[in-house]
Amino acid sequence: MSSGGWCGRGDRPRVFPKQPPVICYDSPPAARVNCIRYDDLRLQALMGKRVLEITVPKKSAATWEMKEGELCRITVIEGSQVGDVNFWNLQNKRERFYSGKTRQLHATHLTVYDRLWSNLPYLRPMATVVADSLKNYGIDEDGASVHDVIGTRCDDYTYKLITGKERHGSCHTYLTEAVAKFGLSEQDVHDVWNIFMCTGFTKDTHQYFTKASPARKGDYIEFIADMDLLVAMSTCPQGDVSTPVGKPVPDKNCHPLGVEVFRAIDQSVKEH
Ligand SMILES: [Zn+2]
Repeated sequence: MSSGGWCGRGDRPRVFPKQPPVICYDSPPAARVNCIRYDDLRLQALMGKRVLEITVPKKSAATWEMKEGELCRITVIEGSQVGDVNFWNLQNKRERFYSGKTRQLHATHLTVYDRLWSNLPYLRPMATVVADSLKNYGIDEDGASVHDVIGTRCDDYTYKLITGKERHGSCHTYLTEAVAKFGLSEQDVHDVWNIFMCTGFTKDTHQYFTKASPARKGDYIEFIADMDLLVAMSTCPQGDVSTPVGKPVPDKNCHPLGVEVFRAIDQSVKEH
């Protein structure tokens, strides 16, 4: 771009006509949930039975299964920590979470009543967010928000690209190891939902940035499964992701996350 204006030689600086932004996928009906129904589903599940409770230790990954209609709550149980989450259809693992289309259908960061969509040709809601203790964070003065569907997951290949060093220990590695028992490989691990992660794009160069997660002990996010799911989550070795990839991460920045799954006593409410 020319900053000094046109001096009369060569090509005249091109002037682009201004155009208004157009929301590309303007809220398809299936992306707008019945909030009252999902609030009901949430309460029914929470008043029902807790069918799973696990702790995912820091710098590791775990998997769990969910039946349609069950609710999962993921909690910051010690200190600020980002989780990288993958989803598969439990009955057909070729159907899996599609971060990019989810971003287009909703926004760069997900919150209550946003849905997580599956890949093509399926393109179905896999889960719906029903509670988020950080929802009031909103969009901050740098344009950052939480629970992103922009970032892909940290991996040892990009780490080597940046540092020139070999490493074993990233969300990609942990997720790959965690799903091996389901016959899945690293090629099945896909772009994640980064829960509790605070990110945005710089205003001047539109580069992806992170900042220390605002999540604190007790913060949580909840989603309801819209189909039977296999879920995998890593506790990112970047911890609260206040350190750029390639720089040493203090161990004190890394923590475990808690996972609970709740099932309604009478799941018929979901048939309404
Ligand atoms: Zn990571």
